[in-house]
Amino acid sequence: MPNQNRNNKNSPKKMMLILLIVVVGLTLFGNQLYQLIFGEAEEEVSYDTFLNALQEDQIKEAKISTNHIAYRLREDDEVLYYTALIPEMDLGSTITQLQSQGVSFRAIAPEDETGSFFLSWIITPIFLYGIFYFILRLITKRAGGGFSGVGSIGKSKAKVYMEKETGVTFQDVAGQDEAKESLAEIIDFLHNPKKYTAIGAKLPKGALLVGSPGTGKTLLAKAVAGEAHVPFFSISGSDFVEMFVGVGASRVRDLFQEAAKVAPAIIFIDEIDAIGRSRESRLGGGNDEREQTLNQLLAEIDGFDSSKGVVILAATNRPEVLDKALLRAGRFDRRIIVDRPNLEGRYQTLLVHTRNIRLAEDVNLRKLAQATAGAVGADLANLVNEAALRAVRMGREVVNQQDLLVSFETVIAGTEKKGTVLTDAEKQIVAYHEVGHALVAALHKHTQPVSKITIVPHTSGALGYTLQMPEEEKYLSTKGEMMIHLQTLLGGRAAEQTVFNIQTTGAANDIQKATEIARRMVAQLGMSDKLGLMALASTNNEYLDEKSNMSCSQTTFYEVDEEVRKLLTSAFHEAKQLLCNNRTLLDKIAQYLLQKETITGDELMAFIHDGD
Ligand code: ADP
Ligand code: ZN
Repeated sequence: MPNQNRNNKNSPKKMMLILLIVVVGLTLFGNQLYQLIFGEAEEEVSYDTFLNALQEDQIKEAKISTNHIAYRLREDDEVLYYTALIPEMDLGSTITQLQSQGVSFRAIAPEDETGSFFLSWIITPIFLYGIFYFILRLITKRAGGGFSGVGSIGKSKAKVYMEKETGVTFQDVAGQDEAKESLAEIIDFLHNPKKYTAIGAKLPKGALLVGSPGTGKTLLAKAVAGEAHVPFFSISGSDFVEMFVGVGASRVRDLFQEAAKVAPAIIFIDEIDAIGRSRESRLGGGNDEREQTLNQLLAEIDGFDSSKGVVILAATNRPEVLDKALLRAGRFDRRIIVDRPNLEGRYQTLLVHTRNIRLAEDVNLRKLAQATAGAVGADLANLVNEAALRAVRMGREVVNQQDLLVSFETVIAGTEKKGTVLTDAEKQIVAYHEVGHALVAALHKHTQPVSKITIVPHTSGALGYTLQMPEEEKYLSTKGEMMIHLQTLLGGRAAEQTVFNIQTTGAANDIQKATEIARRMVAQLGMSDKLGLMALASTNNEYLDEKSNMSCSQTTFYEVDEEVRKLLTSAFHEAKQLLCNNRTLLDKIAQYLLQKETITGDELMAFIHDGD
């Protein structure tokens, strides 16, 4: 592979060099070449040669300027001009003599030295170079078919793949119901754009698929194209990195042009974070290539007419690093989360991938799904394939449970992915931890505090997470509300301790956040009775980060720490007390979560109302 890349990178430069040599050669030896082809030639002679010829009446015709004469001899058949410089004072007598001999001659404009130099050494080469370059481009474009031109000028290693029919449907994508639902509208639009344009509705030009690698983002994008029966164009953002400046941009332009030709179509950009990384966050000068590519992408997205039916889907697992310009309204303003599958999702994925596999009687896919919490679709597909290979190796004609379990060991448990697959004991703890957060919040606010709780390990290293409800925009928070927030944050650790009497690393992030809030309450918001209304810290830059500088004496500094600790401790104890008082509820919800791996906010509230 590296070899191929080198070729691709070098060949345009090589071509330019050859072109340059040809042009220089032509400029230097062009005269001889001209003579060879057209037979008309010039030969420079001295003034006295000319005088001799004149004396002996050999001249047939001549062209004269003030300092220069070109003449042909009578006996010469071919068109050969001799040229000679003549002293200006002799011009008069020369003309008289030519006249007397009856030679036909005409006057020409004196040769402009600088002009001709300019013409033959600068203009002509540039002109020639231009023509050659244009022709070469045409040729390579034809040869490369517009796309995937390997080793051609202006082409790059960024490959565009085009599939007329992906043949993938939503049936091939297990689980991911929410993502499918969001994409259904796009499919309908591709099917029948008129229905939307007739009303005057504008469909989003693009959607961003967000999720860990292997969760099926590419598969979903292909399924959208397959369901809508439209061509599927795909390109990966990481291919654009380290190319020459300008090539990425022209690639993007090509991509959109090709797609527009066959619209309706889907354009899929994998790993868009490789080009779309925020420009602000780049320190010490950006990457020109990436910037140009990004700008071109933005221009194309804005430029194309979405009513034609080109929809762009982009995939990333790091939406937070994307440039804000990409996420602005009218661009990738729709975000579709492609989560790691939960128990049901994993079971469905296993079903999809064992469709064409002969399974033994003893195979229990549910059990396998249970054992693979945290695994993504790609892992499961790989696992099934490994199991099939193992069966063949063992000389069997069907895959049995043992094959599947052993493959699970090699594919998932034996690799660095181990961290994302939880043991049963870990699952218990994570379930209680997450329910702890949610329950504390729900019992305090009496409204649905979360939209979703899950113990499926998450991308960012969190083992489970609680998806907070988007709160209505709030400009003011009371001290009471902030205390509840602290309790909610510490509710995870409180549950761990109440139920198992242990402390785990899972609470690190919670503690960090809670401490930041408590410190702000004490040092900046005047919410501590002991330290009062004094601002003890200042936020230096509101935009970059919220880090603040303490500005107080050593003694006060110490007291701030004490106050912060007091706030946190009291919030923790209150949370713990609350959970103790509602222990049965806590157990019930945690067990339910363990069983389902994901529960919705509504389900949580139903438990709480039943408990009342
Ligand atoms: P991503 O683009 O998110 O990295 P891919 O779409 O390339 O992931 O997934 C890789 C492979 O994993 C797919 O080709 C498919 O075989 C399998 N896979 C992933 N998710 C699913 C799913 N939800 N259902 C079925 N197969 C899946
Ligand atoms: Zn937590």
